[in-house]
Amino acid sequence: MALVYLNGELMDEAQAKISVFDRGFLFADSIYEVTAIINGRPVYLDDHFKRLTRSCQELGFEAPMTQSEFSGIHQGLIMGNDLHEGVVYLQMTRGVAERNFTYFEGLAPTVFAFSKAMDILDHPKARSGIKIKTAPDLRWARCDIKTTQLTAQSMTKTTVNRNGFDDAWMTKDGWVMEGTSNNAFIVDDRGVIITRDLSSVILAGVTRMAVIDIAKTLGFTVEERAFTVTEAQNAREAFCTSTSTIALPVIEIDGEPVGRGNPGDVYKSIRQGFIDALLRPKVVPNQMPLSLKQMRE
Ligand code: PMP
Repeated sequence: MALVYLNGELMDEAQAKISVFDRGFLFADSIYEVTAIINGRPVYLDDHFKRLTRSCQELGFEAPMTQSEFSGIHQGLIMGNDLHEGVVYLQMTRGVAERNFTYFEGLAPTVFAFSKAMDILDHPKARSGIKIKTAPDLRWARCDIKTTQLTAQSMTKTTVNRNGFDDAWMTKDGWVMEGTSNNAFIVDDRGVIITRDLSSVILAGVTRMAVIDIAKTLGFTVEERAFTVTEAQNAREAFCTSTSTIALPVIEIDGEPVGRGNPGDVYKSIRQGFIDALLRPKVVPNQMPLSLKQMRE
């Protein structure tokens, strides 16, 4: 049986119990992070911690966890479940209280985490690509906070899956917001990569940020701006990014092929660039090459 983490302890999942009065359960008054684990190591852990802290601040949670607590929970689950590749999901709720729309100070947050083995580097859709359906964005006005209020995304994804699509890109007035659990990118006919700029209408994906950096390092021009469904359908390429997939090529939008209807070259070099950066051996401090100044001394 898998080990999970609950409020300071690792335990068998069957042992983990939370109160029916937990505000996460009653109000989705709760936030989460999903961090990739590759070769037994968390990926972009600092960035996930920063986003968790921001989500806590935006919702006014009283006791955001420390970075070493966050890191320790990940290490505990990786070791306890012998996780080589997959994700750690960590959720934090405002805590337990009598049901009331108004919340009061002094609640102790509930912290729950589990791990799941997954193929990320060899994601099955990374080569074949995915088919997207556009659908109205049914979410609230603070999509920048990573809350567990995911009913809109869950309904939307289930509906499009039942109609034979892999995922939905949520739209408002013809503008693409993002995928149900990923950020949306297109490549125009000049080879410029376009992804929506950050605001309260999308989540600031950790992978989005990393992919923008990698794209720039590889010499691509990146424009952070809104784009329409029509622009996406006429794009040379489209892809989406998320922690558990890195990047997946979008080969069809609303039944229309994107580009030639195959995974594109820009997507391929970005995905490879991301994986190369991840697997490149890190320079550890005591093996750091000497600086010019040190060599002269
Ligand atoms: N947008 C939404 C709505 C998401 O749920 C997610 C994944 N949680 C993302 C974007 C991608 O974020 P990340 O790259 O941090 O996984």
